[in-house]
Amino acid sequence: MTQKDVQKYDVAIIGGGVIGSSVAYYLLQASPGTSVCVIEPDPTYEFASALRSSGGCRVQFTCPENIEMSLYSIERIKNFEHEMTSKGRPAPVDWVEGGYLFVVEPEHVAALERNVRKQQAHGCVVELLDPAGLKDRFPSINSDDLGMGALTPHDGWCDPNGLLWGYRRKAIELGAVYIRDRFVDAEIEGPKAKAIILESGLRIEAESFVNAAGAWSGLVAERFGMSLPIVPMRRFEHYFTPATPMERLPYVKDLSRLAFRSEGEGFSGGLVNGNEPRGFNFDVDHSYWDEVVWPAVAHRFPTLEAAKCHRTWSGLYEVNELDGNAVIGRWNSGLPNLYTVAGFSGHGMMHAPAAGRGIAELMLKGSYQTIDLTRFGYERVEANEPYAEEGIL
Ligand SMILES: Cc1cc2nc3c(=O)[nH]c(=O)nc-3n(C[C@H](O)[C@H](O)[C@H](O)COP(=O)(O)OP(=O)(O)OC[C@H]3O[C@@H](n4cnc5c(N)ncnc54)[C@H](O)[C@@H]3O)c2cc1C
Repeated sequence: MTQKDVQKYDVAIIGGGVIGSSVAYYLLQASPGTSVCVIEPDPTYEFASALRSSGGCRVQFTCPENIEMSLYSIERIKNFEHEMTSKGRPAPVDWVEGGYLFVVEPEHVAALERNVRKQQAHGCVVELLDPAGLKDRFPSINSDDLGMGALTPHDGWCDPNGLLWGYRRKAIELGAVYIRDRFVDAEIEGPKAKAIILESGLRIEAESFVNAAGAWSGLVAERFGMSLPIVPMRRFEHYFTPATPMERLPYVKDLSRLAFRSEGEGFSGGLVNGNEPRGFNFDVDHSYWDEVVWPAVAHRFPTLEAAKCHRTWSGLYEVNELDGNAVIGRWNSGLPNLYTVAGFSGHGMMHAPAAGRGIAELMLKGSYQTIDLTRFGYERVEANEPYAEEGIL
């Protein structure tokens, strides 16, 4: 093997999507001398989940870690355009403070109120609306079968493409090296990961490795001998418009996993099918809108009975089958220099800032300095002890 075929870095990040790029940025911001490479096979990000996502950012969670990660991340996203200015070029992410609205049937009101109290205890602004209050605020809503809604007015959505590229450009400005290649294998020596092998044959040696390959992270982990229950699950997103004008809506979510929000003249969103077969499937099934999403949307907003769907696309959720929460941290019992930050199961874009900062703290300081993410560690996977959200997923 020639000199050219081997490169050495302090940190090698596998996957240069929104999470991997955030990790690279936070590492270099905190420790400018660190040498960091990011392995990303596709600079167009054709299949990356981030670019297919709907950009929602919310504080409506129940695990304290998720609430805190949202509070920090939303603040960063709101200020992203200026904070991530690179070489005089701002990093716009088109933040829209449209709010989130969780709605539930009467039998779930007590649980919603309990969740709201948790969020309020973290300083979140949350307003509870009874059916009349919902109707008052959103005249098109059918609130007849609802018991309550929780509105978080400071939530919203952004442009995921801008977020990903903002982190990538800033990380490169700070010294990150993006290598257009694909991770295919890992070399282990004693209790440590020693190197990774890329599709081109390039061998990268590093002190630490980060698995940030999203829906592909389970496959990456396997090559290190680590069993990670993170799998790809197809999810559709639809863009649709009403036939007659109606009010702008926050990001509306319910317990059936219907979720959509205003976008331009219309709406963007979908209804997550948790029973979708797992796998790398990007096929679009147009009947899903007609048979599943449209009826649900029209039930909640009868004006949308006459909605027209203009476009449906598919993307992958990186589902953590154990509990639907991210796996963040070091593989302490296996390879302590292998870090994982994946499995957000549909909320990875919004948590990219906090997740990147958390991993950087763990790598550079040996422990979390701001939000304690210990409970999201791989240890719960090894112990088969789920740590799940109690609200709407
Ligand atoms: C339809 C849809 C809607 C969504 N809506 C939201 C939302 O409203 N809010 C929200 O927060 N999240 C949302 N998500 C989830 C969000 O997109 C993901 O949680 C997030 O993008 C995860 O980021 P990531 O960087 O881990 O993964 P990705 O963005 O998928 O990036 C992973 C990268 O790893 C690379 N990679 C793969 N294999 C390898 C390899 N062998 N070697 C090197 N690199 C590799 C890929 O090319 C890719 O670029 C949605 C997802 C979908 C599909």
